[in-house]
Amino acid sequence: KKLNIALCGLGNYATMLASGIAVSEYCNLAGIVTGSPEKALKWKAQYNIPDKNSYNYQNFDEIIHNKDIDLVYVVLPNGLHKEFVIRAAKAGKNVITEKPMSISVADCQEMIKACNENKVQLAVGYRLHYEPTHLEIKRLGQEKVFGQVRFIEASLGYKTYDTLDKTTIVDKKNDWRLNKKLSGGGPLMDLGIYCIQASRYVLGEEPIAVTAQFGTVNNKDRFSETEESISWQMEFQSDAISNCTTSCGFDTNRFYAVADEGSFELSPALSYGPFVGKTSAGVLKFPEINQQKTQLDEICKLLLANKKLPNHITGAEGLKDVSIINAIYKAAKTGKKISLK
Ligand code: NAD
Repeated sequence: KKLNIALCGLGNYATMLASGIAVSEYCNLAGIVTGSPEKALKWKAQYNIPDKNSYNYQNFDEIIHNKDIDLVYVVLPNGLHKEFVIRAAKAGKNVITEKPMSISVADCQEMIKACNENKVQLAVGYRLHYEPTHLEIKRLGQEKVFGQVRFIEASLGYKTYDTLDKTTIVDKKNDWRLNKKLSGGGPLMDLGIYCIQASRYVLGEEPIAVTAQFGTVNNKDRFSETEESISWQMEFQSDAISNCTTSCGFDTNRFYAVADEGSFELSPALSYGPFVGKTSAGVLKFPEINQQKTQLDEICKLLLANKKLPNHITGAEGLKDVSIINAIYKAAKTGKKISLK
């Protein structure tokens, strides 16, 4: 048997997930949830989805009566994750939500509570937790293969906007990533979360304090609600430091860790792969995988066997990242070091 998934929100990343599901061994794309009747028609035809498994945002709760859907995967703008995770949980469906889990700690807590109360499992779409190069840097760091890691540099940014164009009037209704209510923030929410994640799983520890600085704002209209760039520093219990940057104005994609007896690094590091890297002992390279397929297969395999999902991909993990992101914004706004103890 394969697990039957309904994708909720049919934007860019949902399309990538659908490609992963298409080659998956453990799940089917069985349903869709969309606000667009045109998209519903297109997806139903393309993926052979029956009318009865197609929902809109209004009638979505009726999915409670649909035995042919086992799991809802929420791929909506960040500010909508909470509502749809809770509605899916109340309908008795296991649920995966994309990263960041939501835009506030309180939201994450409500989502975890709703899933617990309805006895469904909740996962966050952390695709790199299943990627072999990342599993290796996690091992190198946590098993101290090159000794204790002392310093990490991580950055992920994409030149999503032309930052030299300082005059364009931006309609924030058409770009949810610039709309604070829908995004929760700028590239820190979207991309910086990967730098936080990698630092945490390579060190196997939680940050105890953060400092942060907003970068230059080139287009004040476009970036009136969300940051264009931000840099931050995380201090860990072991005294390790992680220095990170994210931006939607320039391209960067790098991870570098220095330990007592060596170093390891990846560039590109945090995107869809393939990843190329080196350690002070040699090359760091694994075969390229389909990250979406692998993530879904590993999650669905456990759900099909009625097993508990591992802690590092659950709501508790998503909440940790959101609380670190909050502290980073607070540090950037106040110019103060924010304690996370
Ligand atoms: P997108 O803009 O391409 O898609 C968003 C979808 O939500 C669209 O289909 C849109 O129609 C729908 N939507 C419903 N209500 C909306 C509203 N009020 N305003 C705007 N859109 C609305 O975005 P995306 O890149 O697919 O991102 C969706 C989610 O996936 C985000 O949480 C993002 O962080 C996450 N994501 C994850 C990865 C990853 O690698 N894990 C990659 C990209 C995006």
